[in-house]
Amino acid sequence: MNGVYLLLGGNLGDRRKSLEKATRLIKSFFKIEKKSSIYESAAWGLEDQPSFYNQVLLGSTDLSAEQLLTAVLAVEEKMGRERIIKWGERLIDIDILYINQVILNSEQLTVPHPYIQERRFTLIPIVELSPGLQHPIIKKTQAQLLSCCEDHLNVFPINLASDGNL
Ligand code: ADP
Ligand code: MG
Repeated sequence: MNGVYLLLGGNLGDRRKSLEKATRLIKSFFKIEKKSSIYESAAWGLEDQPSFYNQVLLGSTDLSAEQLLTAVLAVEEKMGRERIIKWGERLIDIDILYINQVILNSEQLTVPHPYIQERRFTLIPIVELSPGLQHPIIKKTQAQLLSCCEDHLNVFPINLASDGNL
């Protein structure tokens, strides 16, 4: 499968190191073609928690969609992620955003990821990589989704943000 977009995020410990470690582990089953900048993002959903570092990877894999989900969940597990509360603090979260124009709805896996269009921390790094990519259900490009997104939480590339201070 090519045209696969993964979103990495974490808001505990050394966030940059977590992204680097996850990327190293992901490389064993995923060929990275492009990486977005790293963004610092105010926490979405449950706002009273540390800000996140987020990054989108674009690439390809020989795995099926279900195998890819199992592989990314295994990376989360290996890095010691504990699921305590939904949308709460986490060392690393890896979401499958898009697999080309594939639409999938199983109990374990929804593709495109259902919250892409509601989250600036997801849209901003995808727009950096692929502004013209169409959402296969909403039929808008990533740039269009960002321009009509109602989320106003802060998202900055980390070299510009005052680190840890959102
Ligand atoms: P969240 O990312 O919403 O904070 P989790 O990372 O704990 O929550 O994910 C919980 C479950 O979401 C995973 O075990 C997986 O089965 C499911 N899931 C459904 N669609 C996707 C997707 N596109 N990418 C990653 N996980 C997904
Ligand atoms: Mg997740």
